[in-house]
Amino acid sequence: MAGHRSLLAVTAHPDDETFIFGGTLARYAAEGVEVHLVVGCLDDRIDGSVRREELQCVSETLGLASVTVLDYEAPALAGDLSDSRVSAVAELVREAIERIDPRVVLTFDSTGGTGEADHILMGRATATAFESTVSGDDHDQQATKLYVGHFGRKLMRFGTNVLRMTPGRDPRRFGPSGGVDLVAALDASPSATTFIDVRRHLGIRRMAVDCHQSQLLGAPWVLRRYERLPAGVRGALFRREVYARVWPPAPTGLREESFFELGAPSDLTDDT
Ligand SMILES: [Zn+2]
Repeated sequence: MAGHRSLLAVTAHPDDETFIFGGTLARYAAEGVEVHLVVGCLDDRIDGSVRREELQCVSETLGLASVTVLDYEAPALAGDLSDSRVSAVAELVREAIERIDPRVVLTFDSTGGTGEADHILMGRATATAFESTVSGDDHDQQATKLYVGHFGRKLMRFGTNVLRMTPGRDPRRFGPSGGVDLVAALDASPSATTFIDVRRHLGIRRMAVDCHQSQLLGAPWVLRRYERLPAGVRGALFRREVYARVWPPAPTGLREESFFELGAPSDLTDDT
């Protein structure tokens, strides 16, 4: 349908949608965009029904149009980033993309945002699935875009330097099975192109954070403090969520303020 605005975020675990993409999803849902979420798997360290309830809470808080849990076998295979596994998960993601038919797909970049293998897996699987849907004859290629999250760059560079200096740790062999090369992932990730102003949606994001009690309780003190910052303070410090456009390919120096062409940037700031 022409002019139909829809967005699909593909993540790995319940809570990624809030902690990593929360302001963006809240903003677009508030602007009337149909916002869908696909989650790779439930975290089996916590009762699955608890995580499903938390997802339901987030869905209602952010105003999501749908939530799908793919439930691939994650825990036993953590750190397995083999081509065959990526293709298997990509097949599940592809089914979801075809069913939802979004205009914009959002996922992790090659660093996974945090270096976690499950995040990197979902990012790769989504890129593979996306590629196969835009290369199909029956699909309007111009109508679909792929973006990857570009968060925490400075933090990740800092983290890799710390790992480098820590005896027995190597940022090139990160994760439970040593299968993640964080240095290469950082180098391979595309430049930031898209800066989403989420200031006015941090209150809703904060409510979504509160849905994830099982994660907050076990989270490190720093993260709990960080997530408990009043919306005003957060708005001053973290007013934008940053992405890189993968498809259509971004010309050098591209700088967008929305996933959707809504006109000049000045129009966007008046939007609610
Ligand atoms: Zn995660």
